[in-house]
Amino acid sequence: MKTMHVPIFKGEGQLEYEDRPVPQPEHPTDVLVKIEACGICGTDLNILATPPAHKATPGIIIGHEGVGVVAKVGPDVTGLKPGDQVVIAPRLTCGQCEYCRRGLDNQCTNYKTIGTTTDGAFAPYLKAPESALYKISANVPRDDAALFEPLSCVVGTVTRTPVQAGDNVAIIGAGPMGLLFAQMYRTLGAGKIIVADIAPFRLNFAEEMGVDETLNPNEVDLPQAVKELTGLGVDIVVDAVGNQMNTAIKLARRGGHVILFGLRPHDNPAVNQYTITRYDLTLHGAFVGLKPFEQTIQLLESRRLQPLSIEGCLAGQELVQ
Ligand SMILES: [Zn+2]
Ligand SMILES: [Zn+2]
Repeated sequence: MKTMHVPIFKGEGQLEYEDRPVPQPEHPTDVLVKIEACGICGTDLNILATPPAHKATPGIIIGHEGVGVVAKVGPDVTGLKPGDQVVIAPRLTCGQCEYCRRGLDNQCTNYKTIGTTTDGAFAPYLKAPESALYKISANVPRDDAALFEPLSCVVGTVTRTPVQAGDNVAIIGAGPMGLLFAQMYRTLGAGKIIVADIAPFRLNFAEEMGVDETLNPNEVDLPQAVKELTGLGVDIVVDAVGNQMNTAIKLARRGGHVILFGLRPHDNPAVNQYTITRYDLTLHGAFVGLKPFEQTIQLLESRRLQPLSIEGCLAGQELVQ
């Protein structure tokens, strides 16, 4: 039996290498994928944090932002063939719970996730059901394709807020997710895009990427600086950190929208509710989106949004090969 040397999640804060058999298609709709790259998600870091900020089943291989090539297909696989480049939509929803039946599959109460509850893609080979895989043109470079899953969360989230051509947008957090939002809003025709972060290297990178304005809240009064740049405040604010709601509501213009995207389960920020009511703000909690996968494939294949197109891209260094 062929084996592979893979990192196994062993429980709180522990990752250890073990030899495991190379998986084989078991069910007729299973596909075996030869993984070529896999991004490290904030979720992976949260799984390994102490205390953990995201649950995972001990004994599994983590990693869910994988791209690879189909190696083998089960007899009932109809849409994929060996040699196809594929990406992973890791949440396997049940289709039967009350939320799935209402079309709110992102709130499925009975889901499994590749790389969290079943073996994931930090491995040379992944076995996955055909329904979790999406074919993507070989013209999309491997490293851009590896950002399919995080980008799909952004595609699924921007649908929550109307965005008009020329809208000003502020994004709190210049990590990979914040910068994907910046690229997305640029693609959607936003006006000024402002990115805030306390890490200078992230802000430098955002600037290289062509973000209009970068602000460091350790150096400036963020709400005041955003007002100076925009007059009224921005039309849309994205909190890509997960505990910045109190700041976010101060950056929006009256009648503006605030998208709460980041996930920080242990934080519990105090919020001034009066501001939300008095200034007619609309807040959106947004979690991964409702099946944004086809559109994400179309966007990546159009090459209109190229997540890693910038030379010396820092995000590229996070890719594991
Ligand atoms: Zn992810
Ligand atoms: Zn369900």
